[in-house]
Amino acid sequence: MPEVREASAEQARFLAELIDHGLILPSGVPGVYGHSAEFEDVRLRLEALLTRAAVENGAERLRFPPLLPRRHFEQSGYLSSFPHLAGTVYAFEGGEHDAEAQAERASRREDWDEFQQMTDLTLLPAACYPVYPAIAARGALPAGGVFVEAGGSWVFRHEPSHDPARRQMFRQHELVRIGDPEVVAGWHDEWAQRGLELLRRLGLEAELDNASDPFFGRRGRMLATSQRDQALKLEILAPIAGSEPTALASFNQHRDHFTAAYGIALAGGGVAHSACVGFGHERIVLALLGAHGLDPSRWPALAREALWRS
Ligand code: ZN
Repeated sequence: MPEVREASAEQARFLAELIDHGLILPSGVPGVYGHSAEFEDVRLRLEALLTRAAVENGAERLRFPPLLPRRHFEQSGYLSSFPHLAGTVYAFEGGEHDAEAQAERASRREDWDEFQQMTDLTLLPAACYPVYPAIAARGALPAGGVFVEAGGSWVFRHEPSHDPARRQMFRQHELVRIGDPEVVAGWHDEWAQRGLELLRRLGLEAELDNASDPFFGRRGRMLATSQRDQALKLEILAPIAGSEPTALASFNQHRDHFTAAYGIALAGGGVAHSACVGFGHERIVLALLGAHGLDPSRWPALAREALWRS
């Protein structure tokens, strides 16, 4: 079991308040929560707002389940960068005797993992991951590349925490651009600005900053330094509980990482690049609840106008 990350006093107080108001429903496992209708209403409005912004700017809508075929997961290279965050799906494939023994062990709360086999599926680590193999399957990119809106998909990160903003499973809204390197870099910068404006319009004290991914181990620290030096990852940060800001959205340039892994080439045969934008639905809703109060009907007009316009 990984260590459960402790919450700050402000985060613990905010979590207790959210549970008290029935906005989030604890499951008994840190970082796994249900939501009330009121919470989901705000989240769905946010999802609609983000989808509209992407489609108005030319995105194609694609939807995927919160699972990734194990082959695609292996191709992505996720295990060498983030082995500590990944989740794999196991299932029972035995006979009657094993089934009985498994149920018996489980009923006594004893280990029953020896009866479980790895399946062809992993949990989705980021909402953009199914996009690359799906685009690769179409063949060479069309002229101008592609811009995909993958919606708000459930993603898994094995990092239990008592901070209500750090979930093991949450909705991540991803936009992906694949194409000519210059076009992709321009899109990345354009969306960082658009994302910042969008979150500020909701009344959040959002700031854009240089960031790095939580790569694993010693090699990971080098990767993170190089990612920062090249400004490949930006984040929009805003306070949720207390003064410590939390990342609400991230803007990632992958260069040819995914296009090489899945064999995606430009129409003319040149090297294609990719970039993605991810908005954390729950974190943005939590930031709104933290900034404007726990009753959305009393939020400032500007925020309500942006989310409640039909
Ligand atoms: Zn992504």
